[in-house]
Amino acid sequence: MSIEVPSGPPTHPTFGPLAQRALAGEAPDRDEARAILAASDEDLPGLLQAAYAVRRRRWGASVKICVLQNARSGLCPEDCNYCSQSSISKADIDTYQMMSRSELIAGAKRAAAEGARRYCMVTSGRGPADRDIDHLCQTTQEIKSEFPDMEICVSLGIMDEAKAQRLADAGVGWVNHNLNTSERFHPEICTTHTYADRVSTILAAKKAGLNTCCGGIMGMGEQDEDIIELGFALRELQVDSLPLNFLHPIEGTPLGDRETTARGRALRALCLMRFLNPDADIRAAGGRERTLGEEQTLALYPANSIFVNGYLTTPGQANAEAREMVERLGFTLEDPMSVSA
Ligand code: SF4
Repeated sequence: MSIEVPSGPPTHPTFGPLAQRALAGEAPDRDEARAILAASDEDLPGLLQAAYAVRRRRWGASVKICVLQNARSGLCPEDCNYCSQSSISKADIDTYQMMSRSELIAGAKRAAAEGARRYCMVTSGRGPADRDIDHLCQTTQEIKSEFPDMEICVSLGIMDEAKAQRLADAGVGWVNHNLNTSERFHPEICTTHTYADRVSTILAAKKAGLNTCCGGIMGMGEQDEDIIELGFALRELQVDSLPLNFLHPIEGTPLGDRETTARGRALRALCLMRFLNPDADIRAAGGRERTLGEEQTLALYPANSIFVNGYLTTPGQANAEAREMVERLGFTLEDPMSVSA
């Protein structure tokens, strides 16, 4: 697939008007959402052009670089089928308990030195204990005192409002907790917690005044309808940031033999998320490199944000290579923070 996205205002007879409506605050209806996911390869340039018109209003041509830090790895009692850290995974991964404050702060310094604007500390597990919250609050305060502009995100699992409020008070700005998929399909990929548990964590974070980072994973065996339901649910929750992951099948997990999501399907889903969530910070997240390969630059038409330097237990694109890719295509890197490390 070699695709050239036309410049200028959207001209596609179906997707151009959808872009105008999205900009006016009107979501596509279910049939239109189905049409986006069913767009032909010939229609893909026009779809990407239309999605870009929507992306430009809030984000212009800028690309945000995000860095993940796996603060506690493996040893999780939950059974998320896609995850190498779950209780049912036999994947060969590093496992370790919560990193020390100095290790997490060193990770933030590395992220800052690489020009990342957002640093996300992720822990495996069902949800944080009070001592985890204490630890991450202290760590966040130290990071913020050194890098006041650094956006701090945490991904800690299921959480109530009191815990979310403590994080917000300490300077955490974002909580990540993905819906992952539709309510219908969720029991197929996890039985130890529910879709409703996930929604309630997002609502708790919102009540605490935190920005929410909440998205999904494609390629787990879901149908188009599940992707559409996910997109509408994220719109209803008015999530601030929306990472769309593409399953990287990991040997030793129940989904280890799944096929990689087709490139066109991944791009169409990103476009659908953009039409449904016009102002969200949409991130082409885990599995982007493997799924999109040489065409990963096309993800930047609907998405405005990427991770660099890998994911929790899988490698990803190196920072320098990602930055070169962004600029080669004529996108701009979001202003790096002032770095004092
Ligand atoms: S996704 Fe999170 S909760 Fe689920 S198994 Fe992995 S670490 Fe545990």
